[in-house]
Amino acid sequence: MTDPSDANELRARLTAEQYRVCREKGTERAFTGRYWNHHEAGVYRCVCCGAPLFSSRTKFDSGTGWPSFHAPATANGVREIEDTSHGMVRTEAVCRSCGAHLGHVFPDGPPPTGLRYCINSASLEFERDPDAA
Ligand code: FE
Repeated sequence: MTDPSDANELRARLTAEQYRVCREKGTERAFTGRYWNHHEAGVYRCVCCGAPLFSSRTKFDSGTGWPSFHAPATANGVREIEDTSHGMVRTEAVCRSCGAHLGHVFPDGPPPTGLRYCINSASLEFERDPDAA
């Protein structure tokens, strides 16, 4: 795995949109990312460092145009930080391993958690479950 803290390496490897979202806390436009309407079984990894962040098992159709999950894939993969930018108090979700910006967490998700992890497709790299039908 390449060093995810190396900005030059990331700029070379990521698209401009991926870099803007992950490293400059950007947000992709709704309904434009590659995963908001993606339904295959597998794991969504951090596009920067490869850490497993979300599973298709917790993905749901939020209608927002961003991939949405009711929980992270592992207990420690996603770090949540209070974000007061843009005149709002929100919870930012970042990759605990490399600090990549992922999106935000909102308290209006479905059971069992009631949370909605609203994540940019640009922060993710999907890996299909080879055992899925
Ligand atoms: Fe990462």
